[in-house]
Amino acid sequence: MAGKIKVGVLGATGMVGQRYIKLLEDHPWFEVTYVAASPRSAGQPYKDAVKNRWLIGANIPAAVQDLIVEDANIADKAIGKCQFVFSALELPKKEDIKNLEEAYAQKGIPVVSNASANRWTEDVPMLVPEINYEHLNVIADQKKHHGWDKGFIAVKPNCSLQTYMMPIHALIQAGYEIKRMVVTTLQATSGAGYPGVPSFDMIDNIVPFIGGEEEKTEKECLKILGKVVDGKIENAPGPIVSSTCTRVPVIDGHTACVSLEFGEKKPSMEEIEKIWTSYTSVPQELKLPSAPEHPIVVRHEENRPQPRRDRETEKGMACVIGRLRPCNVFDIKFVALSHNTKRGAALGGILNAELLKAKGYFDNL
Ligand code: NAP
Repeated sequence: MAGKIKVGVLGATGMVGQRYIKLLEDHPWFEVTYVAASPRSAGQPYKDAVKNRWLIGANIPAAVQDLIVEDANIADKAIGKCQFVFSALELPKKEDIKNLEEAYAQKGIPVVSNASANRWTEDVPMLVPEINYEHLNVIADQKKHHGWDKGFIAVKPNCSLQTYMMPIHALIQAGYEIKRMVVTTLQATSGAGYPGVPSFDMIDNIVPFIGGEEEKTEKECLKILGKVVDGKIENAPGPIVSSTCTRVPVIDGHTACVSLEFGEKKPSMEEIEKIWTSYTSVPQELKLPSAPEHPIVVRHEENRPQPRRDRETEKGMACVIGRLRPCNVFDIKFVALSHNTKRGAALGGILNAELLKAKGYFDNL
């Protein structure tokens, strides 16, 4: 279709990159015209580069099969071939990803990233569009600071946070302070990329440690809930979070068991459910193509949510909540679930790009 924005996918051969390729197959606004990965894959047609490791359904989208994979380390290669890029790169050093994302922005190519390298850069928005769409306002200062004309960087938070941040935000927005939170995550194997955790560690087993994940869980929520002050994002003062992150033998879908302590004002169970089920925000108002109609879905069965049954709710973009009940230590507890490579990664990244387009950030590309 004429008029679509041409996009590139960096890390197109990986777990998240493949999701992007599949999810963008029929996108109404974006078309994939550029794919890049490591020097190992560079120079090959995409279909050969992912031969024997294509994981997303039966067929590779026809429009991408014969695109030649470029070396993602050379930003110049993307010039003229795409107007912005999704970054789904995994490099040994975070600093290398940060430098590379900046190199693309420097060349006038905006970067919508899944990587963690720029999450703590204070003028880079870490977006969950339903929660902190106003953080887009720092992009003007980011561009000024670097002297960038068209390029900029916007990132997504860690995948497991998307499992429970919208219900938390909904409660705060309704006037209920959350003082403390204890969360235990049960994270899917696809969250570790491909081939990820060895099968001997994953079958018949649970691994009670994911490097760096608890630190991300405990810190990133404060930036997500923060506000823009003088061209930078200032962290929210709370809640205080204590987390335990585990890897479980599930392919897709992160689960989180969450306990919350409110401030002085405490909502009833009925109010909480009403706040969650009526929660909508800017992506829904703007009718962005990947926005779920119902971002939070509450289930009442005693044994839900479950990854296999519930991860595709709202095309993989909902936070599905169940088992809301009183907590003997804090005030309430519940179980939440979201699709880690859709809401938590590629489709969440696409929603970020849709918000950027709808708000005019791609107008001058
Ligand atoms: P992955 O499956 O390991 O894929 C990594 C990608 O990076 C591949 O395309 C790989 O290309 C490329 N790459 C590796 N080394 C490179 C190099 N030296 N130079 C250029 N490209 C290189 O990882 P993933 O799970 O898709 O994760 C991608 C990013 O998304 C990571 O930053 C991760 O933290 C983030 N993320 C992942 C999830 C998830 O659920 N999986 C969720 C949220 C965020 P080759 O195939 O050529 O090696």
